Amino acid sequence: MLSVITRFALLIFLAFIAASLALANLGPFSAIAAAICVLAIPLIYSYVNLARLRKYTVADAVETMPLPSGYWEEIFFRLQRLVRNLKQQILSIEKQHDRFIEAFQASPNGIVMLDDQDQIEWCNAIAEHFFGLNFKRDALQRINFLIRRPEFVQYLYKRQFEEPLLLERMGRGANLSLMLQAFPFGDKRHLLLVQDVTDLQKADAMRRDFVANVSHEMRTPITVLMGFLETMQSLDLDKAQQSQYFEMMMSQAQRMKSLVEDLLTLANLESNTLPAPMQVVNIPTLMALLKNDAEALSQGHHAFNFEVSSPCNLMGEEREILSAFGNLVSNAIRYSPDIGSITANWHLNEIGEGEFSVTDTGPGIASEHLSRLTERFYRVDRSRSRDTGGTGLGLAIVKHIANRHQAQLIIESTPGKGSTFTLRFPKERVVA
Ligand code: ADP
Repeated sequence: MLSVITRFALLIFLAFIAASLALANLGPFSAIAAAICVLAIPLIYSYVNLARLRKYTVADAVETMPLPSGYWEEIFFRLQRLVRNLKQQILSIEKQHDRFIEAFQASPNGIVMLDDQDQIEWCNAIAEHFFGLNFKRDALQRINFLIRRPEFVQYLYKRQFEEPLLLERMGRGANLSLMLQAFPFGDKRHLLLVQDVTDLQKADAMRRDFVANVSHEMRTPITVLMGFLETMQSLDLDKAQQSQYFEMMMSQAQRMKSLVEDLLTLANLESNTLPAPMQVVNIPTLMALLKNDAEALSQGHHAFNFEVSSPCNLMGEEREILSAFGNLVSNAIRYSPDIGSITANWHLNEIGEGEFSVTDTGPGIASEHLSRLTERFYRVDRSRSRDTGGTGLGLAIVKHIANRHQAQLIIESTPGKGSTFTLRFPKERVVA
C-alpha cells in the first residue's frame, strides 16, 4: 500500500503532467482544466465512498458493506472488523446477562435488587408474586412505598441487616410467611432475598401443638392417678374400697399405656417413608380375626355383619392392615349406641380397586369436621372419645397406614344416621 504522502505526491505529479501536456497542445485554460480534472478524481472517489459509508451506517449494516478498491478499502475493512467485534462482544454480554436473569428467575426465593435510594432496579417473578409487585410498572419505585408493612419499613429504616425479618400473612391470600434479609453489594446497593417459610412455620406450629396436646393428654390421667394415690395414703380404706380404687387407677394407667402405644405407632409410621411391602395379607382370615375382636369389645351390645364380598387378598403389611381395619371397627363400636348395627365389608369396586368399608348406625359426624378427623388429637366429641378409651390418634394412624399402601380414606357420614369409613386400595395391591 502506498503511503498518503506518496499518493499525494503522485497526484500532484499527474496533475502537473496533464497540465503540461494541455499547455503544450491546447493553451493555458486547458492546462488549468486538465489539472483540476486530475485533482477532482480522488475527491469524487472519496465522496462516493463517504456516501456509501453513510448509507450503510444509517442502515446499521456497516459490516455487510462491499469493500471498495484503493485507499478506502483498508479503512472500510478495519471499520467493519471493529463493528463486527463490538457487536459480538455486546451479544456475548447480552447472553451472559440473560443467563444471570434466567438463573435468578429459576431461584425458588424472591430476589429484589435495590439501588442506593432503595428503588427497585430489578426483581424476579417470585418476588413479584410474594409482594404483589409488577416489575414493569414498579421499576425505580421506592420499595417502602410498595411494601408498606410497618415492620418492613422499620427494617429498611434501621438498616440493621445482620438479622432476617419474618413477615407473616403476606401474599394475595395473606397466607404466606416470608423470611427476608437484605445484603449490601456494589455501590450502596442491596440485594433483598426472600424465602417462603410458610411450611416451616406450619410444621413448627404443629410440633408445638403436638407437644402441648401430648402433655395435656398425659396430665389428666396422671393427675387422676395421683389423686387416687393421695386418697389411699390419707384414708384408711377397707379391702373392697381399696380394690375399687385400684381398678380406677388401673383404668387411668391403661389410658396412658394406650396413648404411649399409639404415639409410638404414629412415630414408627412417620419415620418410615417407604411404601408398605408387597406381602400377601389373607383378607378372609383377617376379617375373622376382626370379627372376634369386635365381638369381645362390644360385649354383645351390637349386631355385626362381616362380609367378604370379593374373594381376593391384599398386598401389604399385615400388622398395619389389621391395625387400620381394627381402628375403624373399634371406632364404629365405640361411637355407636348399644343395639346399633355394624357392617364391615371387603369387596372390589367396578374398576377393580379393593375396598374395606365399615358402616355404623352411630351419631354420624357433621360435614365441617370431616376434613379434620385424621388430624392428631382432633375429636368431635371430646368426652365421648375419652369415656370410650379413645386417644384421638386412631384415624391419624389409619391415614398414615393408608398412605403407606397408596390407599385413600373416604369418610361419608350423615348426622343422626351413621357413618361409613372406606379404605380404597389401588388395583396393584389386590391379588386373586
Ligand atoms: P378417638 O380415639 O377419639 O376415637 P380417632 O382418631 O379414632 O380418635 O377419631 C377421631 C374422632 O372422629 C373421634 O374423636 C370421633 O369424634 C370421630 N369419629 C371417629 N369414628 C367415628 C364414628 N364411627 N362415628 C362417629 N364419630 C367418629
